[in-house]
Amino acid sequence: MSVSVCNLIAEQLNTGILVVDVDFTITEWNRYLQIHANKSAEQVLGRVIFDVFPELPRKWFERKLSSVVQLRTTSFCSWEQRHHLFELPHTRPITTDSHFMAQNCTFLPIENDGEITHICILIEDATDVCHYQSKLNKALEDLAKANKIDGLTQIFNRKHWEECLAKEFARARRYQHGLALIMFDLDHFKLLNDTYGHQCGDMVLIETAKLIQSLLRICDQFGRYGGEEFAVILPETDLIGAIDVAERIRTSLEKLTIEYQGEQIDFSASVGVAMMTAEDQRYEDLISNADIALYQAKSSGRNKVCVTKDVVNCLAM
Ligand code: GH3
Ligand code: MG
Ligand code: MG
Repeated sequence: MSVSVCNLIAEQLNTGILVVDVDFTITEWNRYLQIHANKSAEQVLGRVIFDVFPELPRKWFERKLSSVVQLRTTSFCSWEQRHHLFELPHTRPITTDSHFMAQNCTFLPIENDGEITHICILIEDATDVCHYQSKLNKALEDLAKANKIDGLTQIFNRKHWEECLAKEFARARRYQHGLALIMFDLDHFKLLNDTYGHQCGDMVLIETAKLIQSLLRICDQFGRYGGEEFAVILPETDLIGAIDVAERIRTSLEKLTIEYQGEQIDFSASVGVAMMTAEDQRYEDLISNADIALYQAKSSGRNKVCVTKDVVNCLAM
């Protein structure tokens, strides 16, 4: 193929073609770049690339080109590594996160008489791929979040909460740290539903979750264990600290009044506290102990905090 045919193709390609010599002086500049950078060949040929594109990460760019020359191999930089090298406006009528065209750039060594004298840079528009990839990532993120969150209360669902407990349990056993578990259940909730309706019950569950979440530390993990039963993992917590949190949960729910269709709704919760003990082999043992304490709180009159009897061997008193 003659040189002029190659030039003709280079002019028609939907790819930016830019050639620099080893001193970074631009020697070729195709039509695609003239259009997308809005600079004619006369404006850029013979100029140093860093003067034409001051936004280029100079050190990185020099190292990249130097390795292409020394290793005599093609190199690549995808939009995922660097969104763009050259600040070229994108032409897509779609909303993207950036004002500039996402680019895949290829660096080709050009040999003359056994020596690398030039580097050809191919610039391809990756805006569409970048845009759809970010949409996909966002959808996957939302999906992963939805998989962990309870739809009604927006706190952890039982599956994710149990996964958190399994991890905390293993960590606490390994490092011999204290681990406390609180489980609480709203009192006479069936009656509340029957009296005021299911939607009112839903509102109580939502407000309960909001209030309790606001009382907890960032490291505490709060989940909806079942219908009107909630659970809190308290890492690095001793018995006194756990009872203190349990009592705060109980009193704050006791004080909470919810207004529903002009009615003032008051309610309470029974709370069970368990500490991880040396005998606990599985995280389920801790749940069973908290459940036993919760049952005691229910059977001794409700709106109470009870602690599992088996706290003698707990790892942090
Ligand atoms: P106790 O004090 O012994 O815990 O009595 P309770 O009435 O709270 O317990 P029970 O297990 O008899 O009833 C729980 C009720 O919680 C029954 C169920 O319909 C209701 N419930 C479970 N999930 C939801 C929910 O998502 N929304 C509403 N509104 N109610 C729910
Ligand atoms: Mg209940
Ligand atoms: Mg219940």
